[in-house]
Amino acid sequence: MGLEQRVERLEQLAAESTEEPEIDPWWQAYYDAFDALLRTLSAEHAGLIIAEEEAKFAHYERTGELYRTSKLYDRFHSLCIAQAQPQERHPRPFALPPAVCDVLIEDPEAEVMQGWSECEDCRLSLPHKKWAGPPHKVESIFDTCPLCGGRVGYYFFSIKEQQRSRVM
Ligand SMILES: [Zn+2]
Repeated sequence: MGLEQRVERLEQLAAESTEEPEIDPWWQAYYDAFDALLRTLSAEHAGLIIAEEEAKFAHYERTGELYRTSKLYDRFHSLCIAQAQPQERHPRPFALPPAVCDVLIEDPEAEVMQGWSECEDCRLSLPHKKWAGPPHKVESIFDTCPLCGGRVGYYFFSIKEQQRSRVM
């Protein structure tokens, strides 16, 4: 390689190294969702999420193993993943209300399965009691939606949606 070419190559490398590292668009959408949802939480709940995010990375760096996250963190993470995907015809609310955070922290029996305990009006999935029986007999922890006041039950949004389309 001649001197001129070498200088050219060095200049090229220097230019490349000052460029921002490219972040995958999906991860960018995930992190945007993460920040947006975090801003809607109470200071206490947001603090728990941030502490767990840091603990998760520190644990992985130290041990190379996955960190066992809490139910609150898992719910937060699933909402961000869903938000980062292309939207469905009836998107679910991108929200983690304080009452839901408290249940996920305090109730060892609480878990969330999409649709099992959902609001008939806004389609928010809410926690239900841990349940191994037939899904439609699952016991909702909330009678009404903490976001909009709608009734809550097994695939209630879809059921009401069917009724709505029959009436029209
Ligand atoms: Zn609702």
